[in-house]
This record gives sequence, structure tokens and C-alpha cells, in this order.
Amino acid sequence: MKITRIAAYGLELPFKEGSYRCRNRTETGQTSTIVEIGTDAGLAGWGEIAPLGAFYSEAFAGGVRAGLGVLAPELLGRDPREVQRLARVMDAAMYGQMDVKTPIDIALWDLFAQAAGLPLAEALGGRDGHAVALYRSVSQDRPEVMERTARRHLDDGYRRLQVKVGDDPLVDAERLERVAALAGPDVALYCDANGGWTSQDALRFLDATRGLDYVLEQPCLAYEENLRVRRACARPFVLDESCDSLDALVRIRADGAADGVTVKISRFGGVTRARRARDLAVDSGLMVTVECVGGAEIASSAIAHMSLSTPAERRTHTVDFHNWFSVSNAAGFPDVRDGAMRAPTAAGLGVVPLKERFGPPILAFDLGGHGG
Ligand SMILES: [Mg+2]
Repeated sequence: MKITRIAAYGLELPFKEGSYRCRNRTETGQTSTIVEIGTDAGLAGWGEIAPLGAFYSEAFAGGVRAGLGVLAPELLGRDPREVQRLARVMDAAMYGQMDVKTPIDIALWDLFAQAAGLPLAEALGGRDGHAVALYRSVSQDRPEVMERTARRHLDDGYRRLQVKVGDDPLVDAERLERVAALAGPDVALYCDANGGWTSQDALRFLDATRGLDYVLEQPCLAYEENLRVRRACARPFVLDESCDSLDALVRIRADGAADGVTVKISRFGGVTRARRARDLAVDSGLMVTVECVGGAEIASSAIAHMSLSTPAERRTHTVDFHNWFSVSNAAGFPDVRDGAMRAPTAAGLGVVPLKERFGPPILAFDLGGHGG
């Protein structure tokens, strides 16, 4: 099988709630870039990356789109099922830039699994259980607004809430208190600062919330600063932004720096390396959340398949980003029910992209033809 065409499309994904705020910045939506890889076998693979602005991760839409124009010509004519080789081809052509490689790598895995006649979860080694638990983020706002948001998410069936903190630690404590008061004992609470605090802020927050049961996530940005907080913290501790490479994960393991990690597919350049990190985390005795920086149905499908191929006893939860937006980019994504997400059972990602919504490609390269 040969890659004969690579095209990319742009799609704006507005937040249903109007805006989303974390790390003290507000965005009204995400800018998605969708990659289609066509083959001489008539199969097409799809991938997506949708960064949150430019502040949330290394990824931003303009960078992704510029980078795709560099990588796409390198892959034409190659066999898309050689996922590991093609990851090295991309590395040889472009240093780093994992966000650019992500939608291509996801599309290659979609093709690999379709060619094998397997849903992606099965192609990744097998599905453990039928559904993965979902968390829902409570966008940072005034404490009383966050209480109302949390109530809405609980009414929608979510049983795991991630309270966005990382602001003034005493206001953050009030945010958590209000959400905790209505959540009840069957609801798991995470406090995610997205690296927004100093270690001093984090210690003040821990002191102000002594009586509450929650998991602390990524209080500070710098690894060493998180380590200081971790050593003073009796609560379960998760690192997300700090888990951005295999080297970082090895260090987290060696330092005992966390009880759990978040593996964001786009930080690892797609499924190929995110899977490697996920497996190392599992074998290191860490809890794992597999997710991404955002995106609609195409990204959510990759997240669902990877999550369900993670051993259930090590799987924390994941996120149904596609339900955060007022625009869909694919049909065929199965329902989210009772606060849990199922992965499609058709071969590959198992989604049917709604191509008519994408408009003309922002770039397209054809084997033997012209591109740009
Ligand atoms: Mg996080």
C-alpha cells in the first residue's frame, strides 16, 4: 500500500459554553487541523490536532499548518502501515515539533488498523473493558459561577470533576469548597492548576483545603518546583504538563514525583510514541490518563481507543472534548453515557469525517503531482 495523497483541512471549534478559561487565560474555541491520508488501496486515514490557543502547550494552529507543508512531501509514496518507520522518517525531516507530527501519525494508525481489519483499540493490543470514565473540567471563573458549572456537569452524568485552579490560592480554595459541597462522596475531584501556581501558592492551597478529598494536578510549571510541593503533599499527585517526553517520564518514576501522569497524544507526536509512554507509565506502577490538547470527534476517537487499550486497573479517566464544542467533525462516534465513553467498533478510528464541513484543503500534496 502506498500513500498517494496528503491533505489538511481547517475547522473552527467554538466552545458550547461560549468560552473556556484555564491558567488565567480565556479562549472562545479551538482551531482544529484535520489531516487526510489517501492510499492506492482506496483507504483513507484521518488525524486531528486542535490546540487551545498558543499558551496551553507547544502546539499552535499556525505552527502545525506550516509544519505539515514540510512533512507531507516526505511521506508520499511510502507504505502507511509502517508506522514506526514513518515516525523516524518524520523525525529525520523535522526536529521535535511533536504537534505537527501528531495528526499524521494518528492518520497512519487509522490506516494501519483499517488494513488489519481491526478497531484501533484492538490493533494496539486489545480493549480492556467497554467504556472509559470521563472527567469534565470546570472552567476557571468566580467561585459561584464554577459551582453552577459543576452542577450542570453533574446533571449531565459526569462523576469526575477537574476544578481549574492556579489562581489566588485562597480564592481557589473557595472554588474547590463550593464544588466539593455539591459533588457528594461518589464524585472524584481533581484540582488542576495547569502549572499556574508558585510552590508557595500550592502550599497555601494545600493548607487551606486540609479537610477536603481531592487529587492535586500539576501545581507548578517547573519540574523542580512541583517536586518541592510533592514532598510536602499528602494527597495523590498527578503530573500532566511535566510529562512531555520519555526522559521526563523516566525522571518522574526515579524521583517518585507523582502517583499518576497524563499522556497527551500531541506531546508525543501521535499514537506511536504516546503508546510507548503509556506502557512505560503502566509498567512503572503509575496511574495513567491518555488524552490530547483538544479536538472534536476524530481526536476523541483516538483518545477513546488509546484509553481503552490501557489496562483498566491503571486507567484513571479521560475526556470527551468533542462534547465541549458546538461543531462536529465526524459521524460514527459512539455515545457518551453515564459519564463514560466507548470507542468505535468499526476498523481503524471508526469515524466518518464530515468532509463537506471542512471546505477546500488548506494544503494538499499528491504523489507525482503538485502540492502546496
Ligand atoms: Mg491537566
